[in-house]
Amino acid sequence: MLDSLKILVLNYSYEPLQFCSAKRGLLMVLTGRAEQLECDGYVVRSASASYPLPTVIRILNMVKRNYKKGIAFSKKNILRRDNYTCQYCGNSNKFLTVDHVIPKSRGGKTNWLNVVVACKPCNLNKSNQTPEESNMKLMRKPFKPDFQLHPFIIPAGPPTHLESWQKYLPPKLFKNATMN
Ligand SMILES: [Zn+2]
Repeated sequence: MLDSLKILVLNYSYEPLQFCSAKRGLLMVLTGRAEQLECDGYVVRSASASYPLPTVIRILNMVKRNYKKGIAFSKKNILRRDNYTCQYCGNSNKFLTVDHVIPKSRGGKTNWLNVVVACKPCNLNKSNQTPEESNMKLMRKPFKPDFQLHPFIIPAGPPTHLESWQKYLPPKLFKNATMN
């Protein structure tokens, strides 16, 4: 259970930073690196003690973030921006790659505006062509994510977890969250 459950980590300033595994979060609380802000009745038992499982924790040392630089351009963040969904066919179950909209060999740049998530079949199908040439339409124009709109993906979790996260995250993020 500790490996599959996720908890929300807030900065010292209460700004949401990320989700981490419940195990890692609990360790941070037990070692004094974070404080527990919310829990929802889940308890973790070891041989000698039991601990309430946090759902939201706050780091006790401010983590500095470079707002000017914005979000790092990386495969991980492209996947997050595009919601782990192929931008040509909408599939999110197939093996996902990143695709240059204007192929590199045709002068396409490697940046936020020219790189999108594509499933392997779409990537192969498109090959060295532009979307027009391959007759493949992008679902959405690629964009550089604003740091403020950091695309947090709400992990699946018990409804009580989702409830306790809601206080700290923008409501629009919860539109697509799954309750299970
Ligand atoms: Zn596809």
